[in-house]
Amino acid sequence: MKLESFWQATAPAFDGASAGDLPASADVVVIGGGFTGISAALNLARSGINVVLLEAGEVMSQASGRNGGHCNTGVAQNFSALVASQGVEQASRYYRAFADAVDYVQQLVASEQIDCDFRRCGKLKLASKASHLPALKAACEMMRRHVDPDVELLSADEVRREIDSPAFHGGLLQQHGGQMHMGKFGIGLASAAARSGAKIYPQTAVTGLTRLEGYRHRVSTARGEIIAEKVLMATGCSNLGPFGWFQRRIIPVGSFVVVTAPLDAGLLQQLLPENRTYVTSLNLGNYIRTTADNRLVFGGRARFAISSPTSDARSGDVLKAGMKKMFPALSAPVIDYCWGGLVDMTADRLPHAGEHEGVFYSLGYSGHGTQMSVWMGSVMADLIAEKSTENPWQRTSWPAVPGYFGKPWFLPVAGLYYKAMDRLS
Ligand SMILES: Cc1cc2nc3c(=O)[nH]c(=O)nc-3n(C[C@H](O)[C@H](O)[C@H](O)COP(=O)(O)OP(=O)(O)OC[C@H]3O[C@@H](n4cnc5c(N)ncnc54)[C@H](O)[C@@H]3O)c2cc1C
Repeated sequence: MKLESFWQATAPAFDGASAGDLPASADVVVIGGGFTGISAALNLARSGINVVLLEAGEVMSQASGRNGGHCNTGVAQNFSALVASQGVEQASRYYRAFADAVDYVQQLVASEQIDCDFRRCGKLKLASKASHLPALKAACEMMRRHVDPDVELLSADEVRREIDSPAFHGGLLQQHGGQMHMGKFGIGLASAAARSGAKIYPQTAVTGLTRLEGYRHRVSTARGEIIAEKVLMATGCSNLGPFGWFQRRIIPVGSFVVVTAPLDAGLLQQLLPENRTYVTSLNLGNYIRTTADNRLVFGGRARFAISSPTSDARSGDVLKAGMKKMFPALSAPVIDYCWGGLVDMTADRLPHAGEHEGVFYSLGYSGHGTQMSVWMGSVMADLIAEKSTENPWQRTSWPAVPGYFGKPWFLPVAGLYYKAMDRLS
């Protein structure tokens, strides 16, 4: 079993990095080479803006290259719960933003001719308990009425025809969700950004950010300094760098993924005949899909721990056991890849984007970000270039998470709480 991300291990190497010294100045410095930063750099460069992207490690080395591979429409939380907290108009705007984001990913795949197995496969949310069905039914009715007439509630029998598992009591099918090979997409996007003129510097962590005036900043790294007219923070949930204000608002939560060796095509067809993306309805649930070469990708918050090589391997064992229990026909799966990553959770489980003390940011996609981060890269590029003022995640305030100063001491407690909720629900 390789302790690395399947998406990273099977993507082409990125060969568009800039060589030599950092430039002394730039119109825009983007900090972070995940989907948000790469997409912003591509869009800024396409507008003729002199953009420099600084990445602490390699491009696509964190969440964007370590996720479950789903590129779904819909919001992270139950839609009727979102309506209850935000009102129907705002909740509908948020929902439509995710649909627009998936459309945007699809357009980019086509316009940049990125070979990444993108397809619209639909997303099926599986009810792990009968008691979860009323909430799915309420969400389905709300979605059909306000944002997506194609959503369907499936009975236990209908779900049994979708997945060869006795574990589920019904489901919610969103027809327009998608999936892709995240590594191939991200490297394709980074190559397009470099071709368009973005200068991309891997292994260049930003260690200091000093506001000079207005939006202008001095950006410091171990390789030198850049005077930037504008700066975009696209750092995910990283705790690198002097970005305490942002770090107090995003909680990094470990999530883990295993990928099997290629399975017999007939067996895979039996397990998941419609070949969609799947999530289960538990708080500590699973996310599932296949790959183009017939592997099963099985993820989940296997243990409420921060990702590290030892914790990833232990989480891999938990996930393998969960996979066998879910799919009795899969008696002895061979696991080829196992990894963990940090999910960028905010208190309201919604992204936040805007400008704070002269620094632009788009962060906190809360585990539902492969589409939104790509789209927000383009939204932020237009804001920075003053081509538009549209920003779906502009808020009046973004409070810090109470009691959180950068070390998520409460995660094990939260894990126990969610486990208990799952047991009692
Ligand atoms: C295990 C896992 C499973 C997931 N599954 C899904 C899924 O199936 N579907 C979905 O929609 N979402 C999923 N997500 C969430 C999704 O992957 C993220 O929301 C999205 O990729 C965030 O992109 P980003 O560009 O904002 O952040 P990242 O991809 O984390 O990129 C941020 C980059 O900034 C760099 N950086 C940080 N600090 C500095 C610094 N000081 N200087 C320079 N560079 C810096 C980091 O090295 C990193 O490369 C998952 C996440 C994880 C971890």
